[in-house]
Amino acid sequence: MDSSIEVGMDIAASEPVNILMVDDQPAKLLSYEAILRDLGENLVKASSGREALEHLLKQDFAMILVDVCMPEQDGFALVELIRQHPRFQKIPVIFISAVHLSDMDRNKGYASGAVDYVSVPVVPVVLRTKVAVFADLYRKTRDLARLNHELESRVLMRTEELHKTQNALLEMDRRKDEFLATLAHELRNPLAPMQNSVELLRRVKAGDSAVEPIVGTLDRQLQQLAHLISDLMDVSRITRNKLELKREPVLLSTIIANATEMARPKLAIYGHEFTVGDLVEDVLVDADPIRLTQVVFNLLSNAIKYTPKPGRIRLEAKVTDDSAEICVADNGTGIDTEDQTRIFEPFYQVDRTLERAQGGLGIGLTLVKTIVEKHGGTIDVQSNGNGTGSTFVIRIPRVQRNEPTATLEGPTANPEAKSLRLLVVDDNQDAAETLTRLLLHLGHEVETCYDGNAACEKAAVYEPDAIFMDIGMPVMNGYDAARQIRSQPGGKDTILIALTGWGQNEDRRKTEAAGFDRHIVKPVTLSQLETILADLNPTAPSAI
Ligand code: ADP
Repeated sequence: MDSSIEVGMDIAASEPVNILMVDDQPAKLLSYEAILRDLGENLVKASSGREALEHLLKQDFAMILVDVCMPEQDGFALVELIRQHPRFQKIPVIFISAVHLSDMDRNKGYASGAVDYVSVPVVPVVLRTKVAVFADLYRKTRDLARLNHELESRVLMRTEELHKTQNALLEMDRRKDEFLATLAHELRNPLAPMQNSVELLRRVKAGDSAVEPIVGTLDRQLQQLAHLISDLMDVSRITRNKLELKREPVLLSTIIANATEMARPKLAIYGHEFTVGDLVEDVLVDADPIRLTQVVFNLLSNAIKYTPKPGRIRLEAKVTDDSAEICVADNGTGIDTEDQTRIFEPFYQVDRTLERAQGGLGIGLTLVKTIVEKHGGTIDVQSNGNGTGSTFVIRIPRVQRNEPTATLEGPTANPEAKSLRLLVVDDNQDAAETLTRLLLHLGHEVETCYDGNAACEKAAVYEPDAIFMDIGMPVMNGYDAARQIRSQPGGKDTILIALTGWGQNEDRRKTEAAGFDRHIVKPVTLSQLETILADLNPTAPSAI
């Protein structure tokens, strides 16, 4: 209990309480007063029931001392009347009676809520003791009520403070999520021109032994950066509940092949022994192929990172009646039991020391768990900790119906290539120029513009087969430019491809509504470009 409450109670404990004495004989009132004076309470006298009621309505009383035999109204009737008032229903009463009280009389008293009796001649010590007990009881009850009230107002105050803190925290959390989303988006924008430049350099300087290792380093670092940024974007999608799956029936073997393919370069760097178990039966799973590949790749990537080299990593897949099971096992550092649930929390890392840092943000497993659960699946981890390795198992529902298969394979090259007339529009000159050079390198005819207005004018005279257009541009944005191009002569037949940093369904809907045929999320890679161009024109040239 804090000191202010204790002080409050001390004062309350020494405060006298009011005692109402009702008797038609003034002499008796005086004698009660003499007997009770030493108690130090406020003694209030009333010589009739009416006077007693008047006092009761004016102030609070701890108890009433009442004579049973009064001429106008007997004590029982008076108490019955008093107790009809809700405020006085529980007020204690001591009846003083000069006559012998029968059991009937007592019952009458109890029925009116009376609590004690004193007979005449009054024995002073008896009366004093009884009154003192009631006065004390009243004081304690009153103190408790005060304390209760004080506590209630403190609880209310604290609850209000808690609400304010909670709201402030929620607001900060919301701003953090927004910041993460903006940060990831802003970080991704410069990636496109950098990746395009590296691709170009690789091709232009192919065979140059001085440049090739530098390009290799740049490429690997950029890939790592792109990977981190895309994880960051995914986490901000998860926290804002905006992660969406594009599910389709997909072969389990395709997922495994793609994830394994993605992990190969990292496996080679670490020099681990890597084995993939034979898949006895291939099945279709109802999954987003890109997301599920990301899940398996993340598990492989962790197994590679958290296994001292040269270690052993094994991927196995099994099929049960209703699900497909993918299991990634390593003989690495292992995970202690208490960390096994925490590793799925955002930003949680078992060992944060810089010496042990493995180049992650602590969000890979959060993504894995969220994506698996969004598929209606489960994830489990088994490990005995300290250096004994870990095994991650995911289960995904399999497709029950007989649906067509989907694979992640790209288009095949077409030797009878035909050059396309292309227009690149981006206010980020680096992005525009590197994309232009890549397209030129692929053997196409390319023009470049740096705003929507110029793009509309150029499109009218150049009549391109396809336009790669950024969305957020000054002067005229990509949506307006697309609409205008569609309304110009020849604009209906041009393939419009939106190149943007935003890839949510809502963003796709907007580009579609503006008249775009395709929506590509930056950074666009060379192989993506080849796929797009091959789709546009089956006789387009493949990569050189
Ligand atoms: P990151 O790898 O970026 O730190 P993750 O979310 O992928 O983030 O993993 C969280 C933590 O779980 C890691 O920091 C690591 O401590 C632990 N972990 C994940 N996979 C393994 C594994 N195969 N072996 C040992 N520890 C692992």
